[in-house]
Amino acid sequence: MSEQHPVGAIIQRDKKTYAIVPKTPVGLLTAEHLEKIAAVTRKYEIPIIKITSGQRFALVGIKKDDVNDIWRDLGMDPGQAKGTELCLHYVQACPGTETCRYGVQDSIGMGTVINDIFSGMELAAKVKIGVSGCPLCCGESFVRDIGVLGKRSGWTLIIGGSSARRPRIGDVIAEDLSKEEAIKLIKRFLEYYSIHATRKERTARFLDRLGVEQIKEAILK
Ligand code: SF4
Repeated sequence: MSEQHPVGAIIQRDKKTYAIVPKTPVGLLTAEHLEKIAAVTRKYEIPIIKITSGQRFALVGIKKDDVNDIWRDLGMDPGQAKGTELCLHYVQACPGTETCRYGVQDSIGMGTVINDIFSGMELAAKVKIGVSGCPLCCGESFVRDIGVLGKRSGWTLIIGGSSARRPRIGDVIAEDLSKEEAIKLIKRFLEYYSIHATRKERTARFLDRLGVEQIKEAILK
C-alpha cells in the first residue's frame, strides 16, 4: 500500500521530507507573513526556503510529523486547494501601474481579482495564470495556461501557454478588453476547458488537440 502523505505537502527527493508552499497571491506578502515564515523556519528547523517561479515561498525539508503543526502556526492557505492538484495553482503578476514606470494597466489588482474569483474552481488539470501590466510581459503571460497582458487600449487575453518540457507560446484570443470582459472570458474558457479537456490535460495540449479556432468559436460567441 502506498504511503499517505500529509495534506498540503509535497514529498521530496529523499522520500522522507516534505515541502509546503503557502499561498501568496500575485506574490504579495506582508511583514506578518514574513515573521510567521521566519518563526516556523526556526522552530521546526526547516533547512531550505526557496522562492519559486510562481512568486511563492517553498519551505523545504520538513519532517512529516511537523507538517500539520507548521500549517497551524503559519495560518496561511496551501498554494493549491486542499486535497487536489486539479485547480488554479497560482496567479503571478508583475508590479504594473502600482509601481512600475512602464505600467499601463493595474496587473496586481487584476491578478488579485482573478485569484479571488477562480481559486478553488475544480479544473481538468493544474492552471497557472500570468498577468502583465504592459506589453513587455514580465508576468510571463505568453507561457502560462492563461495570460492577461495590459496595453493602453485594454487587456489582451492569451490561452494555452506553457514554459514546461514541451513549451508552447499561448494564443491571443481577444484584445482591447475591459477588466470585466477579460474576467468573463477567462470564466468561459475555464468552464469550456473543464468540460472538454481530459483529466490532467494541460491547456497547452488541449489547445494543440482542439485548435484555437474551435475554442474561440465556442467561448467568444
Ligand atoms: S510587464 Fe511592464 S508593467 Fe509589468 S513589470 Fe514589466 S515593464 Fe513593468
